[in-house]
Amino acid sequence: MAYDDTNIFARILRGEVPCDKVYEDEHVLAFNDINAQTPVHVLVVPKGRYVSMDDFAANAPDEEIVAFVRAVGKIARDQGVAESGYRFLSNHGEDGRQEVPHFHVHLFGGRRLGRMITPIAQ
Ligand code: 5GP
Repeated sequence: MAYDDTNIFARILRGEVPCDKVYEDEHVLAFNDINAQTPVHVLVVPKGRYVSMDDFAANAPDEEIVAFVRAVGKIARDQGVAESGYRFLSNHGEDGRQEVPHFHVHLFGGRRLGRMITPIAQ
């Protein structure tokens, strides 16, 4: 799947659409989800043009992958959920119900979470 430069996270990264930023470095931007599911619901986004986890894992340089994972850990600590616990999750593709075609991780926390997935398809 080719990267679509009109996706909403690409527009946020270009500064065309505002976001509630919680973290930024050379490789990573993180902001609060517009439709938060938990008290802490942060989206962590690489600045590079990667469609999904599959694309990122296969094609991102090591430096960007390391920066991304380090950023997720730091953001969780900064959000105050490293001790209480959190979940990070990435939807890939149709079965994963990915809506925005720019790789991102959801960081959920701030309350006790439900089980990992709903047991039947919805
Ligand atoms: P996905 O299903 O692709 O993993 O999740 C996309 C997420 O992006 C959803 O949780 C949705 O609420 C969030 N989202 C979609 N549009 C925007 C936006 O314009 N701003 C922010 N902050 N989040 C968005």
